[in-house]
Amino acid sequence: MRRLEISEKMRELMTGYYMAGMQADCNAWITSGAPVELLHAFDVYPVYPENHGALIGATKFGGYYCEFAEKKGFSRDLCSYARCDIGCVFAGTSPIGGLPKPTFLFACNNICNTVVKWYQVLSRIFKVPLFVLDMPFIRKELKEHHLRYVEEQLYDFIKFVEKITDRKLDDAKLRDVVLKSMEAVELYSECLRMASNRPSPMTCFDAFVNMAPIVCLRGTDHAVAFYKEMKQELEERVKKGISAIDNEEIRLLWDNIPVWYRLKWFGEFFEKRNACLVADTYTNAWSGFKVVRGSDVISGIAEVYTVSYLNIGMDMMVDIINRLIEIYDVDGVVMHSNRSCKPYSFGQYEIQKKLSVPSVIIEADMVDERVFSEAQVVTRLEAFLEML
Ligand code: SF4
Repeated sequence: MRRLEISEKMRELMTGYYMAGMQADCNAWITSGAPVELLHAFDVYPVYPENHGALIGATKFGGYYCEFAEKKGFSRDLCSYARCDIGCVFAGTSPIGGLPKPTFLFACNNICNTVVKWYQVLSRIFKVPLFVLDMPFIRKELKEHHLRYVEEQLYDFIKFVEKITDRKLDDAKLRDVVLKSMEAVELYSECLRMASNRPSPMTCFDAFVNMAPIVCLRGTDHAVAFYKEMKQELEERVKKGISAIDNEEIRLLWDNIPVWYRLKWFGEFFEKRNACLVADTYTNAWSGFKVVRGSDVISGIAEVYTVSYLNIGMDMMVDIINRLIEIYDVDGVVMHSNRSCKPYSFGQYEIQKKLSVPSVIIEADMVDERVFSEAQVVTRLEAFLEML
């Protein structure tokens, strides 16, 4: 598989991100779907336990750190991002030496309600304040009262941060951060769309590896510069006809969070069978940030973050997946039934019935390698690929 060269730069960038977090005088631990732009506008450094969880999974230490939490009574049924992160807090370290102690916590339940309980635990452990941004679930369409409900909370959050930091929100700075977020998301989305070319210049494994800056650094110049360079590399590949794998015969879409500790294994498995996973629903979930220029920034933020992928009804999800199937012109969908992520996995058997191409469901966990059954996954995938 021809990996993207930009991945090396991503490692350097993320090492710098974690090191800067250790030195920041004020930081907030934040969930991946929360409006980070507000933290940047206050010069509060955002720290992402979920990204830390993915990193632990990728380094194959998931089970090890989950056990620290399990020994304290946390159930193995709990999301493994939460378990391994809480485990690291109890262990006092992690593959990167642990995260800096938070000044405060910011959880938004537009991805799941696990984060609310998870952050309450952290708030008790660290004895620091927690703000929960409660998002209304959007079954069919976003209504005006949904937005008003979220906007009011965003203003409460601003007061909350002003009190803790003793700083005033700078509206011009917030607008500037939002514009940088939009620019990064636009570039990032263009990078993902490159995979609609035949043959595809990248796989979803490249997308998984290189998604960290859009999660952790959106709103900064770093993210903009990174995705500009990634786009250039992809454009160059398309121009020269360089494909991610040789002999791309089958094109697939991945659904759900990746199996972090098996990224290489999955990549090689599909490559050997001339199948290219060209896109996925997970990295595409960060591709829709469009706060209209000139609009009220707070209401724009409310709108964008309320309709996140895991906060919408099943029919809306089906529409999104079918749209991705069309854009990337895929032959089939591989659905990861992720033991950890209930909101992502519960509806898959229903969603499967409404997709425009065949699909297969495999069972695993994104971080906890103790539940991975290679034989079972191989059997299902081989049968599926033969059928296509
Ligand atoms: S349950 Fe799913 S959405 Fe929630 S933190 Fe875990 S992986 Fe993320």
